[in-house]
This record gives sequence, C-alpha cells and structure tokens, in this order.
Amino acid sequence: MMEIRLSYTSASAYERCPLAYRYQYVDGIEVPPSPHLSFGRSLHAALEWLYARDVPEPPSLEELLSYLDVCWESIGYRNREEELSFLRHAREVLENFYRRNIPAFRLPVAVEQRFEIPMGGYLLSGVIDRVDRHPDGSYEVIDYKTNRRLPELNRLREDLQLPIYQMASRELWGITPSKLSFYYLLMNQKFTTRPCGEEELQGVKERLLRVAEGIASGSFPPNPNPLCPWCAYIDLCPTRYVSDDPRSGLEARRRALLRRRENIDRMLQELEEELRKLGHGPEEG
Ligand code: SF4
Repeated sequence: MMEIRLSYTSASAYERCPLAYRYQYVDGIEVPPSPHLSFGRSLHAALEWLYARDVPEPPSLEELLSYLDVCWESIGYRNREEELSFLRHAREVLENFYRRNIPAFRLPVAVEQRFEIPMGGYLLSGVIDRVDRHPDGSYEVIDYKTNRRLPELNRLREDLQLPIYQMASRELWGITPSKLSFYYLLMNQKFTTRPCGEEELQGVKERLLRVAEGIASGSFPPNPNPLCPWCAYIDLCPTRYVSDDPRSGLEARRRALLRRRENIDRMLQELEEELRKLGHGPEEG
C-alpha cells in the first residue's frame, strides 16, 4: 500500500464523502478561505499563546486581547465591517474563556502537540490542543471547538477525534488520559468523556484502516449526504448534474472548473502584486 497520511480531519472527510476527500486531498483543490476558518484559527492561536508559557503566572486579559490583534487572520471576510464584527465576537469569546478558566490557571504539560504515528499501512497525524495534569496526577486532553452549535450526543460517540488523541497520548507519553474533552468556545462549555476501552479503540483502528484502504485503492465515490449544501465542491460534484443528457452535466462541471481557474488566476495576480510591493518578484515554479 502507498504511504497514506491520515488525520482526524481527513479521515472524517473521507468517511463523509470520498469524492469531496479526493477533491481536497488528492487533487489539491483548496477550500476557499472563509470567515469561520480564519476566526477559528485566530482563537486557537490566542489560546496557544495563553497557555504556552515559561512561567506559571498567566498573562492579563488585556495582554491576551492585544495578542489576539497580533495573531488575527484577516483573510476570507467579505469586507472590513464583517471582519470587525467577527473580531469583536472573538474578543468576547476570549474574555468569557479567561474569566472562567484563569482563576484555576496551571501550566499544561503540552500545548499544540504534533504527532505522527505509523499505524501499519498508514501514518496517523494530528495536533492536540492542550493536555492538563490535574493535582491528583491524572491527565486531561482538551480540544478547542469553534462550532456555533453543540453536537448531538450520538454524533459525539461516533466521532474519531478523541479516540485518536487517546491513542496518540499512549504513543507519545505512555499515558491514558482519565478525561478527554471538547471545549466549545462559543458556548464556553466543556464536554468531557472517559477514555475508550480496548475494544472501542480496536473499532476505531479498523475504521481508519478501511479509510486508508479506500484511499489506496483509488475508491472515491460521491456520497450525497445532508451536508452537501455546504460542501465546498458542490459546483464540481457530478451528483448535482444528474440529467438525461450527460453532455449538459459535463458542460456544467467544465464551466465550474473554468470559474475556479479564473478565481485562482486572480488570487495569484493579487499575491504577486503584494510580493512586488514588498520589493520581491515572485519565484518561479
Ligand atoms: S456535494 Fe455532496 S456528494 Fe458531492 S462532493 Fe460534496 S459532499 Fe460529496
């Protein structure tokens, strides 16, 4: 089997729709920037800064909010007004987080911990946002979420992310965390689960192996699902153009690809203009 790299995000993308996975990870058609992606990345960067410290004293709230201005990502917003409204919201989210968590501030044992684990047939990679060690010596893995709504419990039970982090914790540090948590930043609410048993972990490994085998065998069928209306590739998807006339479907997809090429050309020109303003010509290739 060729070397397959899987993360929680890519494996879940394949399980949801192999064709959308192919567009993103095999064909490299980028998901366009969006306010929510930039907003989420900015909050993660600010929280990484809050906890990745050399001293056990937390910074002040004012320092944290100033850092948000430094790490704020401006791409993907329609205009300055929209960006400022997201920035105000991010400040509010951080303020609420700070007030709730900083009274019990302790230095975590890991922040933004990257991992890459050979799993026999594929490489499992990811980044764990934070690992705390509690006074009783137990560990808690925490992942920050910027979803606007809380997930349904049955979807959480099937989610691969926390079991993957449990496996990674064992590989990286030889520990089994006693708690694994999603911290929903917008609601300032934490959902905590207990670690999976060996049987559940085996089930997760089998799911990941099925994904790796599907990718290695080039199996990328579309899987129409309730999230299709929000799919970044809906304009390219053959399921959208089902008709008695196959030619019209192919023509519609061709037009969608041409539109994407025009957008990419425009973005390249803007980027090269930025480089020229900085006194650099674009590199070849
Ligand atoms: S629109 Fe639906 S079926 Fe088509 S690629 Fe996207 S997720 Fe898959």
